[in-house]
Amino acid sequence: MCGIVAYLGCREAYPILIRGLHRLEYRGYDSAGVAVLNEEGKLNIYKAVGKVANLEQMVQGHDCSGSLGIAHTRWATHGVPNEVNAHPHISQSGDLTMVHNGIIENAGALREQLKKKGFSFRSETDTEVLLQLIEYTQKKHDADLASAVRSALQKVIGAYAIAVIDRKEPGTIVTARKSSPLAIGLGEGNSEFFIASDASPIAGYTNKVVYLNDEEVAVCRRGEDLQISTLGADKVDVRIKEIDLDVSMLDKGGFPHFMLKEIFDQPSVLKDCMRGRLLPAHRRIILSAVTEHREELLNAKRYVMVSCGTSWHAALIGKQLIEQFCRIPVEVAYASEFRYSDPVVGPGDVVFAISQSGETADTLSAVQMASERGAMVFGIVNAVGSSIARASDTGTYIHVGPEIGVASTKAFTGQTTVLAMLALAIGREKGTVSEDTYSDAISELEQIPDKISRILEKNEEIKALAQQYTANRNFLYLGRGTDAG
Ligand code: GLU
Repeated sequence: MCGIVAYLGCREAYPILIRGLHRLEYRGYDSAGVAVLNEEGKLNIYKAVGKVANLEQMVQGHDCSGSLGIAHTRWATHGVPNEVNAHPHISQSGDLTMVHNGIIENAGALREQLKKKGFSFRSETDTEVLLQLIEYTQKKHDADLASAVRSALQKVIGAYAIAVIDRKEPGTIVTARKSSPLAIGLGEGNSEFFIASDASPIAGYTNKVVYLNDEEVAVCRRGEDLQISTLGADKVDVRIKEIDLDVSMLDKGGFPHFMLKEIFDQPSVLKDCMRGRLLPAHRRIILSAVTEHREELLNAKRYVMVSCGTSWHAALIGKQLIEQFCRIPVEVAYASEFRYSDPVVGPGDVVFAISQSGETADTLSAVQMASERGAMVFGIVNAVGSSIARASDTGTYIHVGPEIGVASTKAFTGQTTVLAMLALAIGREKGTVSEDTYSDAISELEQIPDKISRILEKNEEIKALAQQYTANRNFLYLGRGTDAG
């Protein structure tokens, strides 16, 4: 997921926040925003679609003064990238504002409960749901911000790194994390706070950093030492680390190039991809698209997969998995050929469109053609709200975060992970996969992130092999079944 920066101290917050957002740009994002609390207690919030530079342009000439603020780069998971869905979000009363990285799995159910209590929502995001839940809890129990955050987070399923401020507590930022990273830099006299998704926005200001653990809440209060507690309000010792960062490496998270960074992202993003869908404790895979379109998926005469490049290779693996587990014939078509070939496709067919960006022109045209001819279109896409996602009848996002490297790495593993979950989920509904196979496959899928971590530990050996063979002109790969993808 993307980036958070927050600041509380005696300097002007805005320049620190913007510089921090620039340093997090390597993570990729679709929109950005900032909220600064000024001397008069007014919250000034600015948001822009696209680059941080667009945000800076928008803020020009407007009030961005104040020594407390939060900022965000968003990679949409709930709702399209636009200004309304961009963070920071504001609560119903206008007092609380929050930035969030991650995915709240039970946002839908919480949103319905909050609506019944009189809350209304401006955005489509899961973040706004969490923020309103914090406000509801705060009002119900007449609690301070930190206690409200702790109790609200106990009701949340999913991943989060958050920074929240309350106009009524103008010297406080409350932050917390679970499964999304968060670091707190301690500046002047230990009561100046630099909060960020990683240490890169903090570097240059201080080398004293505290990394929060999962389900810990930190309270940064002006003039006081940092306080950390569990969600149950038990005090936790503050563990300060001395960091030594090479500023030239910062834009790529410490990696020399994006592709390597994205290779190393795989263990954590594949967990994001499977979160809330692969439920090992219940021995189940739940994909809402399969539940909602069960009949069309089970009754289809055949499936057709359209894609290009690396996504086409993912489709070849998907074909093997679906044919094996679902006994439904799958045809894999190169999207550019499909669109120019007057394809035999129509009602009763399900067309799967696979694309990282969701903007691949040939795949999008193939989707439009398949729709016009009456087929159901199922998108397997990374970028939320992208053209292919919007043109599909249903689908499953791969949720691996932005991929900047041109050669696909984590998006490919994300696509194959989604295809494996899909094949198993449909196979189970159809009764074509045995309970034992289904159960074993769930355990194997669960282990994939750790297995990839173990491979990545051999980075130096892999590098040596690559150097040894880099000048070879030909390779012969042999494989069968999914290994032939
Ligand atoms: N789930 C949130 C959203 O869609 C946060 C996404 C992020 O981590 O940037 O707005």
